Amino acid sequence: MQPENHLTLDDGNQDRYQLLIAHAPVCIHEIDLEGRLTYMNPAGLAMVDSNLDKVCGCRYLDFVSDKDRAKVERLMEKALAGEASEFEFSFEFEGQVLTFSSSFIPIRNPEGQVEKLMGITQDLTVPKQAETERERLILELESKNADLERFVYTVSHELKTPLVTISGFAGILHNDLTKGKTKAVEQHVDRITSAIATMNHLLDELLEMSRVGRVDNDFEPVPLGEIVAEVVESLHFQLADQNADVRIADDLPVVHGNRLRLYEVIQNLLENAIKFRKESFPIKISIDAHDTDDGVMCRVQDDGIGIEPEYRERIFDLFERLDPQIPGTGVGLALVRRIIENMGGKVRVESDGPGKGSTFILFFPRQK
Ligand code: ADP
Repeated sequence: MQPENHLTLDDGNQDRYQLLIAHAPVCIHEIDLEGRLTYMNPAGLAMVDSNLDKVCGCRYLDFVSDKDRAKVERLMEKALAGEASEFEFSFEFEGQVLTFSSSFIPIRNPEGQVEKLMGITQDLTVPKQAETERERLILELESKNADLERFVYTVSHELKTPLVTISGFAGILHNDLTKGKTKAVEQHVDRITSAIATMNHLLDELLEMSRVGRVDNDFEPVPLGEIVAEVVESLHFQLADQNADVRIADDLPVVHGNRLRLYEVIQNLLENAIKFRKESFPIKISIDAHDTDDGVMCRVQDDGIGIEPEYRERIFDLFERLDPQIPGTGVGLALVRRIIENMGGKVRVESDGPGKGSTFILFFPRQK
């Protein structure tokens, strides 16, 4: 009795089968009992970029990567013993790893002995790459969604604070006025006005954040030296007030970015260097840069209050402030990070700890 996967081509439909095989859009091949290719259809020959004379006689296993060869060899032995199989394997061609799906179908002679194997092989490289890319995009989207959720939560929380103040003082004001108490009215109105100003400031900064990467994406070569000089000039009075010693290296590089945004980066870092100074010292700030293998590092160094190691990541989060007594919104460094990352760069801070100053390091990748 013939086994179930018995297949013969002597059923009078040979011409039709041959036509199908010749025009099939997948590689169809035959392998002899020694594991050598004896036939490959035109689609297969196009796949290996060869012709029938060259392909016939080649070992099938030579088209399989070292990594998958033992597995495929085992399946081939089983197929020669009569067991069909489907499998995937990879092959390295001109430096690129290609992925294929393939099969071994035992073909038997009228006596029921396996006389050769047929197989169908399909190039899965492009669909596999598309699948990997799809998975990457899904992960990226999920992470962006999580960021967005966190962002909405933090923003609404932060905007609530001035609102609570406003509603609280409006209530007190209402009570006072109904009772004819007018003594503290001016004070309460001041508190309300100040909370409104805080909220306005927060909203302006958030709007600024949302613009990064959405608009202002026209990058150009920007000489950092010019930007630093302009910011230092704009902060002239604050710096003079502190008797600041500002040292700017004269070899600051030209980087590829948005001029206005880079101005904001330097402005935020220098304003922070002034704001987070040590009380007793005339402040020292230095700005320099050096080349690395893959780009340029620019350092903005101060001798201010410094930062504890555990906060060096957190200060770049939105609304993160280490000392609520010092005025600020906690948006500046989040904006700095967003701008620099939008340029393909990175920013981090180094500090030897409280009282030991801080160094903000901006990395600008080399333009390819
Ligand atoms: P803001 O300046 O509005 O508080 P930032 O986002 O610019 O917000 O900074 C976040 C926090 O990081 C600051 O509140 C401060 O605690 C810390 N920080 C920023 N720059 C410095 C610095 N140069 N030295 C010490 N701490 C700093």
